[in-house]
Formats: sequence, C-alpha cells, structure tokens
Amino acid sequence: MTTTSLDPIAIDSQHVLQVYRRASVVFTSGRGCVLVSREGERYLDLLSGIGVASLGHAHPGLARALADQASTLLHTSNLFHHPLQSELALRLSEISGLPRAFFCNSGAEAVEACLKFARRYWRAAGRHERTQFVALEHSFHGRTMGSLSVTWDEHYRAPFAPLLSGVTFVPAEDAGAVTAAITSDTAAVIVEPIQGEGGVRPVPRATADAISAACRATGTLLIADEVQCGLGRTGRPFYGDALGLKPDLMALGKALGAGVPIGAALMSEKVASAVQPGDHGSTYGGNLLACRAALVFLDELISRGVMQNVARVGAYLEAGLRAMATRQPAIRDVRGAGLIWGLELDRPAAPVVQAALERKLLVNRTSDTVVRLLPPYIITEREVDEALPILEAAIVVATEASRT
Ligand code: PLP
Repeated sequence: MTTTSLDPIAIDSQHVLQVYRRASVVFTSGRGCVLVSREGERYLDLLSGIGVASLGHAHPGLARALADQASTLLHTSNLFHHPLQSELALRLSEISGLPRAFFCNSGAEAVEACLKFARRYWRAAGRHERTQFVALEHSFHGRTMGSLSVTWDEHYRAPFAPLLSGVTFVPAEDAGAVTAAITSDTAAVIVEPIQGEGGVRPVPRATADAISAACRATGTLLIADEVQCGLGRTGRPFYGDALGLKPDLMALGKALGAGVPIGAALMSEKVASAVQPGDHGSTYGGNLLACRAALVFLDELISRGVMQNVARVGAYLEAGLRAMATRQPAIRDVRGAGLIWGLELDRPAAPVVQAALERKLLVNRTSDTVVRLLPPYIITEREVDEALPILEAAIVVATEASRT
C-alpha cells in the first residue's frame, strides 16, 4: 500500500505521539545542502537534521554503498562477527586514541553506555560506593533515564523524577567550583566540549584545565560527550582536543552515520578491561548497514577532504556571522567553531527561526535566545553567501515585528 496520497500532517496529529513541535512542512527529497518540500519548494538546510546529515542529503557515494549493503547483508546481531564493525572500531580508535568501541544506535545510548561503564569500572575496582557523577550546567546528554540524569535543564528532567541520585551540576565558567565538585567519590565527570543544546557554549579553557587536573588528582574518569561537536564538526576530529581533554570514555552519534542511526561509546583499555561479556549490549548496535554508512562517512571526512572543507567554510561562515553581529544589535554574542554556531540574541530566537523558514532557510532555536546553525559538512562558500542574507533578513524582520 502506498500512503503518499494521505496528508502526513493530519495523520501525524492523530497517530504520532505529540512530543515534537514540528514546522508545517513536509520534505520529500534532498540533494547536498538543499531539501525539497512536497510542493517542490527548495529550502537551504543549515541544520542537517540537527547535525546528522553530515555529508548532506542524497550523497551519491553513501547512497551507492547503502544500496550495495542492503542487497548484500543488513543485520546479523552481535551474536556473530562481521567485518564492518571491527573495521569501524579500528578506524575510530585511530582517530580518537581510545582503543575500544561499543556500538549502539543513538547519542543518548552512547552516553548511557559511558555512564554504565564508568560505574562498572569502579565496581570492578572494589569501590562500590564510587557511583557519583559531575556534569556542567547547560549540559544536554540525552533523554534516557541515565543520560537525562546528567542533563542540566530542569524542564527535561522534572517530569520524570526521580532520576539517578548523586549527580552534581556545576557552572561551566567556575573552574573553582568544578575542582571542588570532583572528589574521590566521583565515578566520572561528563562534559560536552561545546555545549550544543544548551546554547552552543564552548567550555572555557580554564574549566577544561580544572577538570583535567581534578581527574588526575582523584582518579575520576572523564567522559567527553562529542555527540554534537565531535567527528569533524569543528574542523578537527574532536573538540575536546582543542581544550586539552584526555577522556577515558567518549560518546559519539549524530554525524557518524551521516543519516543512518548509529552511536558509539569509545573507551580506554583501563575501562574496557572492567567490562565483562553480558554486562551491556544492543540488538541493532553496529549492524552492517550502520557500520557501512559510518565507514563511508569517515572515509569522506579523513581521506577525501571533508574535514578541510569544514575548517575552510567554517572560517568563512564565522567571518560572515561576526560581520552580521556588527550590523545587528539584536545579536549579543557569536559562539562556536567550524560548522557549529550559535547567535545569542537579546530576545527569543523562535521568531527568527520562523522568519528564516518562511524565507526557505533552515536553522533552529536552542535554549530560548540562541539561533543555531549546524550545516552539512559539505556546505560551500556560495551556499553561505546565499544563506547569510536570508538569516539577516529574518533577524531584521523578527526584530521589527517585536517592536510593533
Ligand atoms: N549528547 C549530546 C551532546 C547531544 O547534543 C545529543 C542530542 O542532541 C545527545 C547526546 C543525544 O543524542 P540522541 O538524540 O541521538 O539520543
């Protein structure tokens, strides 16, 4: 049965759980940085499905690889070996320096796995009481019970209380508070090197240094959540490198599958040696389709110049955004790196996002006052030139509307 004659928006309102506030647009195809609606209208996509469509839409090499994999073998479960998961683990260990990988299906699952492995590590060491976590204010780590417990914003957590106990949140700009919070009772500290959902906030270098020092002094494990800012998004493999962080565990997701769901928890041998067969698992985790997608992504990122494109076009985008900020007093701050940027406004960001959508440009709002840009890694300078005037017009229109 084909359902294309049915109205997806009407059916959604009747049959899909209403946890999303979706825009009233239905996308049916895409190419590169462009999405096409069912009415045939072209939208410039500076959001890439919240940082996921890293190679853009309908990437020819990825499409060929996925078609080939679908006609060869998709899934066998983790009861058996297949060659793509081991190859992917090897490639990830080469770029991260963390030798072991656990594969799952999303960022939240990757975080969840890191939290569990951190506790497993201390239990194996006989330190059963060492179960606490330290996280930063404005953090977002996912929506499973564990990842939600280390997510800062109360409005995500409160409806699902009680969550994990023993989580301490500290202000990211207060290095002294970070040092005080990490003690010999802390299992792990978890950090997004650039806080994405919390408003595109790079962690200050002094805080990163305090975390590194406190982890060394107390033996606390460090979990880097690179789900949003990692894997080339900033023009370097991992943004934690820029902050001098040396994580014991790392959570990955989003860009890794370039649109095919996959997550990974990477870890040091020290942590891995505490985890036993049966301790954790996932039916789908690291299946052939997802691993094939991730291998194509890494090949494009590392060997075919995509990371250099992020660095080059990212610098061009940054210059354009900073110039815009000098003309638009509503922009209070421009934060980010590479191809993750947040414009902090002096007012709610939602009207700007809506005005941009009406002008066929996709960006989104994160925390109340921040317009976020997460374009595909393959965006060109020409597309930046097309996008920025639209974004500026949206800011001007939204600003004028709020005055009247
Ligand atoms: N960690 C970070 C830093 C994220 O930005 C997100 C999602 O936005 C997650 C974890 C959760 O990832 P997912 O939505 O794939 O479960």
